[in-house]
Amino acid sequence: MAKLKSQIAAEASAPITSARAKARKPTWRPAYSRAEVSEIFRRFSVQRPEPKGELEHVNPFTLLVAVVLSAQATDAGVNKATRALFAAADTPEKMRALGEAKVGELIRTIGLWRNKAKNVIALSEALIRDHGGEVPGDRDLLVALPGVGRKTANVVLNMAFGQPTMAVDTHIFRIGNRIKLAPGKTPDEVEDKLVRIIPADYMRHAHHWLILHGRYVCKARKPDCWRCVIADICKSPEKTTDIPAPLVPLDELDEALSLDQ
Ligand code: SF4
Repeated sequence: MAKLKSQIAAEASAPITSARAKARKPTWRPAYSRAEVSEIFRRFSVQRPEPKGELEHVNPFTLLVAVVLSAQATDAGVNKATRALFAAADTPEKMRALGEAKVGELIRTIGLWRNKAKNVIALSEALIRDHGGEVPGDRDLLVALPGVGRKTANVVLNMAFGQPTMAVDTHIFRIGNRIKLAPGKTPDEVEDKLVRIIPADYMRHAHHWLILHGRYVCKARKPDCWRCVIADICKSPEKTTDIPAPLVPLDELDEALSLDQ
């Protein structure tokens, strides 16, 4: 039956539903082909077969606390403080028993320590109260915890639970935009695009490969393109060479480069 005029007018003026908004969203055309993206991550996997995060921890709880403490702080600075903290408390129960004042004292060298000490205690209490003292392996449950945002949850899901998540930090955000791999105005946008283009086989370690590449090679101020194994594939206007660095596990590469100097 044909639609009534009033029905058509009502539909046209209705708020945009998520399906309609999605349909109107311009489609993103990746700058790299599937083969190129796959080759980028294949090379990262040769260079660093078993990449590890640099935040020290002994179990999922201490990992969660370390990530919460790392906001606006360096991993090295966090590690310095958490060695004593985790020696004193490596479970939510022990952390709660330690108390906010003592936690604050132990993490005083980390920026925003007062607020972070409060969060660590609130986090420990919530884990005891709602999860039997265990860290949940679920994003919605993690982000409901005090002081835990999407990025923290993604790091914990990836490192403690082996889930193929992408926690976009400052390095990954820069690389996504600089080399046009996953351009975006927000970390969520970059995350969404990276998750869409990275082959499933590489997702488990992609987060660490990108962070380490950003920290040691594709650096913020000036990228060390001469040390970059994807220099021939990279589409950044900032790159200074098309010749990729030798593709060998990183320790060997470092040795080779130091011999050249
Ligand atoms: S070639 Fe240079 S800009 Fe491109 S990814 Fe490598 S270090 Fe970064």
